[in-house]
Amino acid sequence: MSDTHSALQRVKVSGDAPYAIDIGPGLLADGARLAASLRGRHALIVSDGNVAPLYADALEQALRAARPELALARYVLPPGEHEKTLARFGECLDALARLGATRDASVLALGGGVVGDLAGFAAACWMRGIDVVQLPTTLLAMVDSSVGGKTAVDLPSGKNLVGAFHVPRAVYADTATLCTLPPRELRAGLAEVVKYGAIFDETFLDWLEAHADALLSGDDAVLAQAIARSCAYKADVVARDPYERGDRALLNFGHTFGHAIETEQGYAGATGDGLNHGEAVAVGMVLAARLSAALGMADEAHTRRLRTLLERFGLPTTIPAGLSPEALLARMRLDKKADASGLRFILWDRAGLARIVPGVADAAVLEVLAEG
Ligand code: ADP
Ligand code: ZN
Repeated sequence: MSDTHSALQRVKVSGDAPYAIDIGPGLLADGARLAASLRGRHALIVSDGNVAPLYADALEQALRAARPELALARYVLPPGEHEKTLARFGECLDALARLGATRDASVLALGGGVVGDLAGFAAACWMRGIDVVQLPTTLLAMVDSSVGGKTAVDLPSGKNLVGAFHVPRAVYADTATLCTLPPRELRAGLAEVVKYGAIFDETFLDWLEAHADALLSGDDAVLAQAIARSCAYKADVVARDPYERGDRALLNFGHTFGHAIETEQGYAGATGDGLNHGEAVAVGMVLAARLSAALGMADEAHTRRLRTLLERFGLPTTIPAGLSPEALLARMRLDKKADASGLRFILWDRAGLARIVPGVADAAVLEVLAEG
């Protein structure tokens, strides 16, 4: 790994506005490469109070060295999902106004999913849409939220209720940033990595089993491979279905259950009083696998395999104590994944082969929830 560039991976995302995801250590210091994605004279770095002190100065220096005439400003919001608000979104737009950002300006989203979603939405709205370059610094954002163009902020009445589809101009995932990520956040990201194997490719689960120790220890090259493969699965499905009218919904495997757990716990993951998103998805995937088995779709052996892998990654696989099956079911009914025909789940026929199953009976779901 002495040669930075030999470790670099690239995934291309096709569509109306194609873009590339570059993955590897040291990308944030590569000013020339980053500047190549900036079309105009203005750029706003959006970050949060944990990430900015670690990485924003070096990023700014690299950009200034590569493009001295660039007008650069910074908007830093406090960390945490509860800051993904319309008020912070408004502040971000104000920062663009102060910068004098024109139609060819760029927003650089430096941080995790919260920063990426909010900055992406600000870019989608400023002058009806300017470029956003995603610079994800969490594993979760690298493998999921920075790719595919979903942007949003939360309202008091629910998560991601206001947003837009706005694909990035480019994504640079600097794997060196993962060394400062709290281990719990790394493990949460691994849940979404496992998800791709569960939905699309059993051989990726084999690979994850073989490389579990390297991934957990933060091995740069192995993480970069895992990220690249995850992004490739996501790129493939979003190219087929950019607006989630069909197959893209497969990416919600584990999420109907997971969101119900997160909401029922009041999104207490950040304070340690509840599961974070990745942890809730880990539990949700096991519940989806168990529901698949209960409905006679899949063999229990696949559930056991999934659970073993998630546990190896230090992730929870059972419903946290104190959550009632009825309350969780009620949450799922309110979720947008419920439609007129009953609850709609992403289930699997086997590990690596998921499909959308509408009209699942409440009784079957309750039975799985009741068993924990
Ligand atoms: P997500 O997990 O959806 O990407 P966040 O954007 O909330 O979520 O990021 C999770 C937490 O990790 C936040 O507190 C954020 O400030 C912090 N964080 C993000 N990237 C890094 C990093 N590379 N090093 C240290 N902390 C980070
Ligand atoms: Zn997710």
